[in-house]
Amino acid sequence: MNYNVNKDGFYGEFGGAYIPEILYENVENLKNNYLEIIEDPEFKAEFNALMSDYVGRPSPLYFAARLSETYATKIYLKREDLNHTGAHKINNTIGQILLARRMGKSRIIAETGAGQHGVATATVCALAGMCCIVYMGETDVARQHLNVQKMKMLGAEVRPVNSGNKTLKDATNEAIRDWCRNPSDTHYIIGSTVGPHPYPDMVARFQSVIGEEIARQLVEKEGRDYPDRLVACVGGGSNASGTFRRYLHDPRVRLVGVEAAGKGVDTAETAATITIGQKGVIHGSCTYVMQDDDGQIIEPYSISAGLDYPGVGPLQAFLASTRRAEYFAVTDDEALQAAFELTRLEGIIPALESSHALGALRKIGFEPGDVTVLTLSGRGDKDMETYIRHYQSQPL
Ligand SMILES: *Cc1c(COP(=O)(O)O)cnc(C)c1O
Repeated sequence: MNYNVNKDGFYGEFGGAYIPEILYENVENLKNNYLEIIEDPEFKAEFNALMSDYVGRPSPLYFAARLSETYATKIYLKREDLNHTGAHKINNTIGQILLARRMGKSRIIAETGAGQHGVATATVCALAGMCCIVYMGETDVARQHLNVQKMKMLGAEVRPVNSGNKTLKDATNEAIRDWCRNPSDTHYIIGSTVGPHPYPDMVARFQSVIGEEIARQLVEKEGRDYPDRLVACVGGGSNASGTFRRYLHDPRVRLVGVEAAGKGVDTAETAATITIGQKGVIHGSCTYVMQDDDGQIIEPYSISAGLDYPGVGPLQAFLASTRRAEYFAVTDDEALQAAFELTRLEGIIPALESSHALGALRKIGFEPGDVTVLTLSGRGDKDMETYIRHYQSQPL
């Protein structure tokens, strides 16, 4: 089986580029140039230099001794939480801002839910001296005040969106509309492995630095360049794709993705797209979508804003349909419990998204000698209000 994207932008039956006519030239241009640009030695040198001196890479591969003892196995954490701006998202935005500059673009737009991708985009726009507009649902603007302030301090314009239920999906629609109005001078920095081809492949390539580092670090720590199992949370799928990419065709490595079950996959309040979704088209790509019998998108719900999306990247959909990867759905409560567990065992407060990956540890059947690497996609600073609320309602 080939898990790489084909020349038409498909992973099996998933992917493609379902876009309005007016964006055709722009997306075609990107498609025809992205590989040449990102494979160029000068581009790579600039990307790698920023990864090391600006982002702080390589991020450590940390052997979590007390967590490992608890699950009677060997667990390493890939510490994306230690990156500049606190998550893996910066790997992608650095890649895309360098690409935008090479494509002669002067204006950057982005969508954001919790504000993490908005902050990562505003950060690289400040770094590159580019104009930055971030679309964000009004509901999210209200509940993610600190990130809105950060984006403004970084020089970005935050445009609140008041359509739909005023969250990520609506912000994405508005960003696409902006792109249609300004196709020539604007680059749209999509925040995950979603959207029309070539975005899912391009973002996975920028994020694949995660898996490449894991290979090198495992040689030092375990004397071999592969783990037995990789675990990552899945919103759109960028940290998972970046973690898995190097090992997609290596049958020795089991791949585990973790979705947000919200209040439970059998309730109306969930974001477990792979578990309950059906094939459809969302934001330019054919993939699993949470939809009703009429094909109307079901509003997703998760305690974690980064996983609260009714679609999923086409690579993850393909890995699920071919059973190359296994997927678990972890509820809000399970994720919260896992967050407190990691904090008390290892002194690391994880992002709520990453806590979902941690919540799957209870569901995986480990062998004692197994080497598992779990990608800790971000840090928990942004989620302190949620954690404090939980702590007050049920102290440990
Ligand atoms: C945005 C985000 C995610 C989810 O996005 P993916 O594209 O699925 O990786 C996960 N973790 C953190 C910390 C995030 O900020």
